[in-house]
Amino acid sequence: MPYSKQLKERYLMSDLLEKREREINTASEFSWTPKTKLGVLVSEGKIKNIEEIFSSGKPIKEVGIVDALIPTLEDKVLEIASVQRMTKNNRRQKFRVTVVVGDRAGHVGVGVGKDVEVRPAIDTAIRIAKKNIISIKLGCGSWECNCGTPHTLPLTMKTKVGSSQIILKPAPRGVGIVAADTMRSVLELAGVKDVWTYSRGRTRDIYNVAMATQKALKAINEIKNVDAVKALL
Ligand SMILES: [Zn+2]
Repeated sequence: MPYSKQLKERYLMSDLLEKREREINTASEFSWTPKTKLGVLVSEGKIKNIEEIFSSGKPIKEVGIVDALIPTLEDKVLEIASVQRMTKNNRRQKFRVTVVVGDRAGHVGVGVGKDVEVRPAIDTAIRIAKKNIISIKLGCGSWECNCGTPHTLPLTMKTKVGSSQIILKPAPRGVGIVAADTMRSVLELAGVKDVWTYSRGRTRDIYNVAMATQKALKAINEIKNVDAVKALL
């Protein structure tokens, strides 16, 4: 078993993560003091939907905004990798944690955090994942299905991050998420019900595969007229 996998299992098994989960579940009950103008508008209830922020194009600089607008966000640790850095006199060990957050209803974000300890690395990764959150466009782009309900993706998308290449393809109703662990977690938390996936290159690079999956979902969302693009394909 590779060392990183051993570590991942050891930490996933430990009650550390359970404890964290409990803390996260109660975190939304605590008050939040916004620091940006956007944050103030959200805390005053003047912005009620995260889509308003996405369409304005303003960057989300506060995690509190995401917590306030998507209170049902779940997070999942995809990988706890041990990375070593050589300094003049010694070796320094750091943990690199990759996390996905999502509401299973059209919002997802991937983030990575590094620290000498696992727990702060997880916290950082979750914060970054929340700031990276995107809205995804669901539809029925499966010619076998053509039901018109938003259970899969509207079209096929191919992306690459580093040397990890992935393809997401619309699937008919009932197929489920046909994917290996990393892509499955991202797609599940994003709220995609049925999808076929393919991957090439370094498919074991969890961070790159997770980022590529988010990138593909983002690219689909950014296509203005899906039907026109589909007609060209
Ligand atoms: Zn369908």
